[in-house]
Amino acid sequence: MEIDVDKVIKKGIGRIPLVRDKSVFSASDAGQCLRYLYYSYKFPKEEKEEKLKIYALGNKVHDLVKEAFANYNKIYGDFKELYFEYPLEISLNSYKIKGRADIVIKTFSNELIIIELKSSSDISKISEPEESHIWQTMLYMKGINANKGIIVYIEKSNLKIKQFSVSFNETIYENIVKRYEKLNSYLMEEKLPPAEFYFDNEKSWMCKTCIYREECFSEIAIEQVKLN
Ligand code: SF4
Repeated sequence: MEIDVDKVIKKGIGRIPLVRDKSVFSASDAGQCLRYLYYSYKFPKEEKEEKLKIYALGNKVHDLVKEAFANYNKIYGDFKELYFEYPLEISLNSYKIKGRADIVIKTFSNELIIIELKSSSDISKISEPEESHIWQTMLYMKGINANKGIIVYIEKSNLKIKQFSVSFNETIYENIVKRYEKLNSYLMEEKLPPAEFYFDNEKSWMCKTCIYREECFSEIAIEQVKLN
């Protein structure tokens, strides 16, 4: 029997396209392009193979860090309790925001701290956390009533670390919820949101690998014809 390992990895790493429940939003989508999210609910598609491989490797790095936290606490006992992949839920009017915090620490003074892990191929240029990562962490903080979070960037090839503390901020939280409100309205009214990232100079690079690029760009062409 011939075994094509590359094919096994390609097929084994992929997932069946996710059919999304319109009453549940993911906290990890907080900073995502609204048009992308709309498409992902209406026309679920599997991510590109390259992205799936990057996600899978990132998850393995996160597992290593979680294991290190568990081992460290067994030896030194610095934390009262440790939780991994802690499920969180925020119930709003007609939908919920759900997520899983990578690590939640309960200290001996009963303070809860969220640790959000992000893997990167190069952390040398990271001088501050990405806005979307702050938003995601903020939602987790709200979900378990924590005031403190730490966003940790891990370089995949050598496990170098950069970490940033974030405190809960009600105004930022309310602005994030407004984005989900907008997404909810677009989905309910079956109205395509604007191509947010395409018109944002700092984020338009993400359109290059967007799985909905083709559909989105033809819509943009139609929208521009209508404007002229
Ligand atoms: S191509 Fe860009 S603007 Fe269009 S849906 Fe994807 S990320 Fe959003």
